[in-house]
Amino acid sequence: MAATGVQDMRYKAISIKTELPGPNAKKLIEQDYQFVSHSYTRDYAMVAKRGDGVFVEDADGNVFLDFSSGIAVCSTGHCHPKVVEAIKTQAETLIHMSGTDFYYEPQIDLAREMSKIVPIEGKVMSFFGNSGAEAIEAAIKIARNKRRRPRMMAFIGAFHGRTMGALSLNGSKIRHHENFHPLLPGVIHAPYAYCKRCPYGAKYPGCNLECVDFIKKTLFTKMVSPEDLSCIVMEAVQGEGGYVVPPVEFMKEMRKLTKEHGIVMVIDEVQSGMGRTGKMFAIEHFNIKPDVIAIAKGIASGLPLSITCANSETMDWKPGAHASTFGGNPVACAAALATIDLLKKEILKNVKTVGAHLKAKLESIAEKYDFIGDVRGLGLMLGMEIVDGKKSFNPNAELRDKVIHKAFEKGVLLLGCGPNTLRFAPPLTITKEHADMMCDVLVKVFDSVKK
Ligand code: PLP
Repeated sequence: MAATGVQDMRYKAISIKTELPGPNAKKLIEQDYQFVSHSYTRDYAMVAKRGDGVFVEDADGNVFLDFSSGIAVCSTGHCHPKVVEAIKTQAETLIHMSGTDFYYEPQIDLAREMSKIVPIEGKVMSFFGNSGAEAIEAAIKIARNKRRRPRMMAFIGAFHGRTMGALSLNGSKIRHHENFHPLLPGVIHAPYAYCKRCPYGAKYPGCNLECVDFIKKTLFTKMVSPEDLSCIVMEAVQGEGGYVVPPVEFMKEMRKLTKEHGIVMVIDEVQSGMGRTGKMFAIEHFNIKPDVIAIAKGIASGLPLSITCANSETMDWKPGAHASTFGGNPVACAAALATIDLLKKEILKNVKTVGAHLKAKLESIAEKYDFIGDVRGLGLMLGMEIVDGKKSFNPNAELRDKVIHKAFEKGVLLLGCGPNTLRFAPPLTITKEHADMMCDVLVKVFDSVKK
């Protein structure tokens, strides 16, 4: 096993042997169309059959380099042997018992581990669910229960999930909301600190954080009393909104504001957590400690698990107030414990070094193409904005989507985020060679779309 924790992989390179989609993929997609919900957004015709490290083989034997990791989930790579072993061992011992009614060791072990690694002041307690949205639902209820205040604040550009509570906090795409109102009442959205596209036309640094001023001087005096807010829910790095990293001072000011008014600060680390940014949690880059942290995606390397962590004073609810039959299932907990062990031992270091290497390469590529407006992000949570031109900086969603399609044809799996951003969210086990491999494909794609 190499130093990054990457298993010796069956695949070493991209290999596209058929037209895409291939014949088997085509048949499966037809079946899918007949029987599977049409609410899923499949950006291209990838039918995954087998995953191995940073590669995925499709139904026709084509091999792709995966820079999506199942939307930032396969943190330790596909089917890491240590995670597979932990899952197998636990599956042979106890698959389910329901933590809502019984005790079992993997859940207790994981909660103890979370209390050590989660950056929250005081004694940390864990609530277990199955998805990112559920982690947010739990956070909303923890805050409501603690504060007994009716309103909540979230941010424009935010994504917190698709259940009705989490959905009420979203501010990234109208498609998530349309036809589903009324949602939870009393939610107010503030502009996020998206400095490259500052809603106030200001320039950071030197803007005196107009975004925070707007909340204090306009929203808190005209729209919502801070004393009515149970919580402010925010991502430390906006994910679906476009991989937007706010200034450190913005997050610090938000923490001050929440403390001043007794508002529960909920940080959504569903996408940015579990090592993705080079620290275990993205909020550690900002050196603040919130009251609640919502975790899912990468926590169990692909098994469904979410954890909402809060200090014991904030998570102050009575038995029966909240629970989930499957939440914190023993097999998912075992996968999470193996994942955390790998992250701590080897992978976090890898994210820092390979993330810095990839970012530098993307920045040097960006210099050569007028349609690349920005390269940003932390660790292996990197984004590249596609624009009409560097000068106009107008978002170019069509070109971004074209790049994603062409990358797929050349054997690289990418996703978009925000209206016009390319998202680079590979397994955290990629090597510099894999990063270079992706960049070589990207350059070919960029050359092919260059006018
Ligand atoms: N929060 C963030 C920041 C996310 O990125 C996501 C999913 O993309 C969610 C919450 C919702 O997670 P899930 O799809 O597991 O419900």
